[in-house]
Amino acid sequence: MAANLTVSRYDASREDIAELLGEGPNYRLDQIWRGLYVDFQAPLEITTISKDLRAKVDSTFKASLIEVSSSVSDRGDTTKFLWQLVDGGYKIESVLMHYAERATVCVSTQAGCAMACGFCATGQAGFNRQLTAGEIVEQVVHAARTSAARNQRLANVVFMGMGEPLANEEAVWQAVTRIHDAIGISARHLTISTVGIIPGINTLSERPLPVNLAVSLHAARNDLRDSLVPINKRYPIEDLMQACRKYLQKKNRRITFEWALIGGVNDTPRDARELAKLCQSLKPSAHVNLIPLNPTPGYPTIGTTQEGVREFADQLIDLGVNATVRRNRGTDIDAACGQLAAGQPVTISSR
Ligand code: SAH
Repeated sequence: MAANLTVSRYDASREDIAELLGEGPNYRLDQIWRGLYVDFQAPLEITTISKDLRAKVDSTFKASLIEVSSSVSDRGDTTKFLWQLVDGGYKIESVLMHYAERATVCVSTQAGCAMACGFCATGQAGFNRQLTAGEIVEQVVHAARTSAARNQRLANVVFMGMGEPLANEEAVWQAVTRIHDAIGISARHLTISTVGIIPGINTLSERPLPVNLAVSLHAARNDLRDSLVPINKRYPIEDLMQACRKYLQKKNRRITFEWALIGGVNDTPRDARELAKLCQSLKPSAHVNLIPLNPTPGYPTIGTTQEGVREFADQLIDLGVNATVRRNRGTDIDAACGQLAAGQPVTISSR
């Protein structure tokens, strides 16, 4: 139908493209699909189809992201891309990280974020709009293309960029499905990170693919978590743990708790004990990923020192918790966890 022909390039389904092709042979559709999702080509580059057809696909299914800039850090191993959404000018970012054997991309799921966590630059800047599945997938395709140019395969996708994935669950799930089915990245290599939106976790546990779930915990008691992660007032820790248990039961996948270490706020021995207790209440025990707090313009409190991070990790390990420290990437280009603001002004937090 004509309405379908206005969908963006990576929102378009196989049926949408088939419709454009009309009566043509079936393998044309496979050639186009392969060009888009296996060879990561723009339609005009798909030389297996005729020039006329390339032009038709190109003008019918338009790209949604315009690259504004890219910045490089870690001696070329981390690249932050700043994108402008074609339909209105909001900006989003994605971060591509190269490791020895593989590459990982961190993608945005919303333009901005409504969760208002004070220590996160995206939260400080506020919410603009939901991304479509195609806008999420396009970030992944671009990263895969950039990696391929370095002879590296994009192996992992983490939904940890700007926005709260489970406040846009439907689009995120469509993106997961496309990344899995068309690009061929397995569910084990896809990770959704959430601030703890319980209805979203519940929906996710009914979805067919066993993607990894990461929960941004940051505090293991409600009064502290209320102040760090305001949505905790709606979805308190006990209920959140119940939803995590249900996810574990359904998916048989380990859950990761993310914990940004904030000096003197959530890095005390008491915090370690409370966190260990929560981890042990999940069977098998949750894994903890410690993130030294990255600086953001709107949050005056500084991160735990390197030594303090090590100590906190050791306390957890002594308490029987599997804890690792996340290596920071791209702090100098504001590409690290919590620093993505796409150049927007932020609100200064009172903390
Ligand atoms: N909204 C989702 C995904 C985006 S944030 C979520 O909250 O999980 C990705 C991770 O970075 C989260 O664990 C988040 O809590 C963390 N983070 C946010 N600000 C940070 C900062 N300043 N330093 C370190 N980590 C931060």
